Amino acid sequence: MEKVSKKIELKRSLNRLFRSMDFVSKNFLNNDKLDSKTIQIYWNIYQQLGIAWEFLGLQCEHWDGYKKIRDKKEVCKICGKVKSADEFYYLLTRIGTKKIGKRLTPNSDKTFPSRKKAQICKDTINFHGAEISVDVHNSYKSRLFSKTINIAAERCISVKERKIECNIYDRLISLELNVKGKKTGRKTYGNFPWELRRQDLKNFPVIFDFDEKFRMLGLTILT
Ligand SMILES: [Zn+2]
Repeated sequence: MEKVSKKIELKRSLNRLFRSMDFVSKNFLNNDKLDSKTIQIYWNIYQQLGIAWEFLGLQCEHWDGYKKIRDKKEVCKICGKVKSADEFYYLLTRIGTKKIGKRLTPNSDKTFPSRKKAQICKDTINFHGAEISVDVHNSYKSRLFSKTINIAAERCISVKERKIECNIYDRLISLELNVKGKKTGRKTYGNFPWELRRQDLKNFPVIFDFDEKFRMLGLTILT
């Protein structure tokens, strides 16, 4: 019910806007009796209505599908947006869950000649002070020390908060703590916990979460 009324309300607003644009165009932009300065003012009004059109169009979910126009293009029957054309803004609700885009994963078995051609999505949002990045790409060829290597297809999600960076890959989750500003030695190491001595293990305030069969459920780090 809510969706229907949203659609009807948007249709009405867009139709009113289109009538206004037609009115300005017909009466003022093609009027020989007006001087160029006046035409410029009406031209600016027309441009501003165009911006209103763009922003109203962001509310449209293209419910009624597309219709064909010239040059084999298809436009939305309600808002007039050209199918598959880029949008430059997102419209987000202030209340409730914000949603931008959909979950993308690698979509080809091919190895592409460059990262640019293999890229599916690379985007970052700063959300109330936390930074979230999404990097999804197919496999591609890369040069490393004058050798060509294949970089595997991957979906990587990165979250940055309080100098802590968490990267979630397909087969690996990495966590870097307070990288900047922390005094570290010249060398860095990585080991499984059972490879460390008991007295050294005490430097790691990590709690392993597991079930009765010692299956890992997660871990907690005290910072
Ligand atoms: Zn539409």
